[in-house]
Amino acid sequence: MSGSTDAHVHDLDDLRGRVRAERGGSVDDSIPQLAQADPDLCGLALALADGTVRTSAQADVAVSVQSAVKPFLFALALLDTGGDALDRIGIEPTGEAFDAIKLETGTGRPPNPMVNAGALLTASLVEGDDVEGRTERIVAGLSAFAARDLEVDEDVAHSEHLLGDRNHALAHLMRAEGTMHVGADDAVAVYARACAVLVDARSLAVMGATLACAGRNPVSGEQVVPPRVARDVVSVMATCGVYDGSGRWMRSVGVPAKSSVSGGIVLSAPGVLGAAVISPPLDAQGTSVRGRIACEELSADLGLHVFAAKP
Ligand code: GLU
Repeated sequence: MSGSTDAHVHDLDDLRGRVRAERGGSVDDSIPQLAQADPDLCGLALALADGTVRTSAQADVAVSVQSAVKPFLFALALLDTGGDALDRIGIEPTGEAFDAIKLETGTGRPPNPMVNAGALLTASLVEGDDVEGRTERIVAGLSAFAARDLEVDEDVAHSEHLLGDRNHALAHLMRAEGTMHVGADDAVAVYARACAVLVDARSLAVMGATLACAGRNPVSGEQVVPPRVARDVVSVMATCGVYDGSGRWMRSVGVPAKSSVSGGIVLSAPGVLGAAVISPPLDAQGTSVRGRIACEELSADLGLHVFAAKP
């Protein structure tokens, strides 16, 4: 991959200006707080392997992390279970929506950690005696990935818990299959709070960079997870991170990523950088429309596509 990131990163505000002209997509309305998102919001950030962070305007505007939390929940679950989480969850893409009411055939395990069934389980596998304990551990872990103290938006968490009917259904289904070890409502409560952690593009880029840098946060210097965990997580981001749009994403952007319904996208380009775009209008697969365009441009500009050999 390219080592030429320095030559281009000053263009983030130019890139933001270009993608802001895009008017496609619509803001998620699954909870009132997301329905009220500013459709014009657009923040971009890059966090390089040397710890340099570059940002555009609005890179400090926070939204709830939503599904962009899933790679980090998987990482924390792998860490806290000593890798046993890999026996309890599949790693195959589903080709289905993020909240499909479907488990792995034959095992009743969640299909992968990037869909809701999987994240309900990974959030429950993080160490802690109860909802409070697991939430505290998750917020501390996410903060280590971001190199700053993050917090839960309690209103968002409340709405997610109350209105997440499909998540309640998935948790009960896993209970029935014997693959969810905690109470269904507790599983949804922890997952809802994890989705409600506030992040801006800067924080999300640093989180992506930590996975890209073998689990070592390039800003704080902290080894947040072992290299093997980071490798496993980024591998699954590559195959499952954009739900039923993962194949198209890998062809057009070619960088492991995770999308979210709040309009955030986190990228991890192994050994090079982490990046994030936050812009709420979404396409049919729940991917930020401006985020996709920005990521395609960043990938092309910085030579990040993992399968594009230099001619
Ligand atoms: N909190 C959302 C849900 O569970 C996350 C979905 C997403 O961001 O893709 O429905």
